[in-house]
Amino acid sequence: MDTNRTSSHDISRRAVLGAGAALGLAAMLRPRAALAAPFLKRAERTRVLRFAHPSDTHVEPELRGAIGMRQAFEHMMGQKPELVITGGDLPFDTGSTPEGRSRELWTLFKTIVKDTIPASVPVHHTLGNHDVFGRDKKKSKATGSEPFFGKRWFMDNFEYTHTYQSFEKAGWKFVILDSINLLPDGSGDFRCKLGDEQMAWFKDELERTPATTPIVVVSHAPIISVANFFDRKEEEWKTDGPDLMVESSRMHVDCREIHKLFEKHPNVKLCLAGHLHQHDRCEYRGVTHICEGAVCGNKWKGPRHGTPEGYGIVDLYDDGTFEHQYLTYGWKAE
Ligand SMILES: [Zn+2]
Repeated sequence: MDTNRTSSHDISRRAVLGAGAALGLAAMLRPRAALAAPFLKRAERTRVLRFAHPSDTHVEPELRGAIGMRQAFEHMMGQKPELVITGGDLPFDTGSTPEGRSRELWTLFKTIVKDTIPASVPVHHTLGNHDVFGRDKKKSKATGSEPFFGKRWFMDNFEYTHTYQSFEKAGWKFVILDSINLLPDGSGDFRCKLGDEQMAWFKDELERTPATTPIVVVSHAPIISVANFFDRKEEEWKTDGPDLMVESSRMHVDCREIHKLFEKHPNVKLCLAGHLHQHDRCEYRGVTHICEGAVCGNKWKGPRHGTPEGYGIVDLYDDGTFEHQYLTYGWKAE
């Protein structure tokens, strides 16, 4: 369980401004914090929205996965979210699974969403690497010429024109990114990054958002995550070897470029991700990065590196602050 509290960042900001210190000096010392002044945490704030972030459902009939996803979503709707943003890797799996089985899995996913989330609650979906049909052409027996090949099936499912999107709700802006940048060699391998076209769109989205509108960014792979250092198996972890490496398929390799953008836009408050099936949280230069854990835990085989099966609940406030909880739903793998 994890709940967000006042960060040291907020405290220092409040202290600086509460003392009536010159903003100019603060700007020179800590430009990002000073620019964030419109979001000063107030003694009294009002919650404007609660949303749920269930990531990595990896639904499948095996290992009671369909029962698990249904149980998780029913538990989640019990928290009364007004919006749901799924975190990607929705079915398990359509990247290396033939068409017939992929179709069954997508149907399963969409049926459980429809059964558990009332039509009055909007649902937005994030693309995960397991949602890209035919990434492994051999295993999926795909030719590449199917009309639903690649990311198309994900988009068609939800009637999206792009794999990334933005929208506003309750005075906050949400930006949902596509982390899965497929290599041009057609191998189906990917690097976690935005690519030129999406990066240009993202820059434009941030530019067009008023500085007084706080922003939540959602991506499948974390932009930054400390859990990466615990992702490898114990026997693969060499303390006398070369430098510690973060795999490009695990975390955004363009994290520096993205953070340069965040420096210009201090209204970016929170980045949510999944992919690693581990829950973590880190703060970097005024942005909170949370890796959510997974609805399926370790793909329905139990917790992963100590993170139990669960989902995120986020409360957003009118002063640009938020509270986050990682909630488990009582699942016991068999
Ligand atoms: Zn993933």
